[in-house]
Amino acid sequence: MSISIDLHAHSNISDGLLTPAELMEHAAMQRVDVFALTDHDDTAGLQIAESEAARWGMQLIKGVEISVTWKRRTLHIVGLKIDPEYPPLKEGLAKIRAGRHVRAAGMAAGLEKIGISGSLEGAYAYAQEGIISRTHFARFLVEQGIAKDNKAVFKRYLVKGKPGYFEHEWANLEEAISWITGSGGVAVLAHPGRYELGRTNMLLLLEEFRALGGTAIEVVTGSHTVDQYVEFAKYAHQFGLKASQGSDYHGKGISYMGMGRLPTLPGKCIPVWQDWDEVKHFVRKPEQDSPPVQLSL
Ligand SMILES: [Zn+2]
Ligand SMILES: [Zn+2]
Repeated sequence: MSISIDLHAHSNISDGLLTPAELMEHAAMQRVDVFALTDHDDTAGLQIAESEAARWGMQLIKGVEISVTWKRRTLHIVGLKIDPEYPPLKEGLAKIRAGRHVRAAGMAAGLEKIGISGSLEGAYAYAQEGIISRTHFARFLVEQGIAKDNKAVFKRYLVKGKPGYFEHEWANLEEAISWITGSGGVAVLAHPGRYELGRTNMLLLLEEFRALGGTAIEVVTGSHTVDQYVEFAKYAHQFGLKASQGSDYHGKGISYMGMGRLPTLPGKCIPVWQDWDEVKHFVRKPEQDSPPVQLSL
């Protein structure tokens, strides 16, 4: 039996569109078997995700995606199989969330300077109870007709050097990895192809990541090209790191890739879940294998 595994996705606890329960239903409909909820800097969705996973016959892997500053760049470190109650992790994430409010105010001030007002309130209206992120600003700016879509809005307003960018210090790499591993989890470098580091910095990062206790890198992720699957499979092999895979699903219209069957990891890769009981002992409920029930009229 081949098992469908997706180890990276967001609910509206961070910048996804679906509630944790809706996301779990969506994953179930897409026939995902082992699923990690990895909201940015927040684990508030995990409890409900776990009970919903049981209802749908899925295995939940408790996750989080931590914002890190490394050499003045923002990186994302995914924690899998974490214990959300581990105090250093809990406190560290609370500190990052507080920093997000400071950054949001700074972003809004930058946008105000070029004549875009109301973005702080606009972004918070999308964020509701969850964390505030650049995606919420993007949605506001698109809604205002300032840019045509998320991609255009990030490029013109929200990345480094643009008016809505606000330099902010997140956690450092060592902290993030130690919170994750200290809680019993494994640290995974998320979507390494997205950082545009260049080869020298990528080698430095991978060396440092491994030395600090990092376990795996995402090889198959929604934001990698097929060539990057191969490229990062090689890096993983070179550094003795395992490989992870995830859609990085955020909801309809704002995702790189749908959930469900992801492309297979390149041959050489050692999957991050290699020794996980959650995968080894996973048994799909029989009804999930059967075709949909035909209703007689
Ligand atoms: Zn990310
Ligand atoms: Zn993500």
